[in-house]
Amino acid sequence: MSLLNQQRLYSDAQIEFAQSSPHLVWVTPPNRSMPLALRLQVFDLKGPRCAYCPEILTRENFTVDHIRPIARGGLTVLANLTVACRSCNSRKGATWAG
Ligand SMILES: [Zn+2]
Repeated sequence: MSLLNQQRLYSDAQIEFAQSSPHLVWVTPPNRSMPLALRLQVFDLKGPRCAYCPEILTRENFTVDHIRPIARGGLTVLANLTVACRSCNSRKGATWAG
């Protein structure tokens, strides 16, 4: 199975549609990158504070965390996404949020 075949790019029209449809499920490539527009939407809704510690984040240093990890069946939907600092996100890994 080739990774290249699974990678998807998101067109402007798809991103626009996603922004008007908060419950849309995004299918992300295996490298777990997601469109910048979706990341910024998560930051605007859930930021700027890290979900797991008091750190205040900026648009330059925040990461998007899957509350229920993809590895455990979590979906890339706004309801399952939150803002986390780098150290909390890497510490959490594929475990559930407390
Ligand atoms: Zn944190």
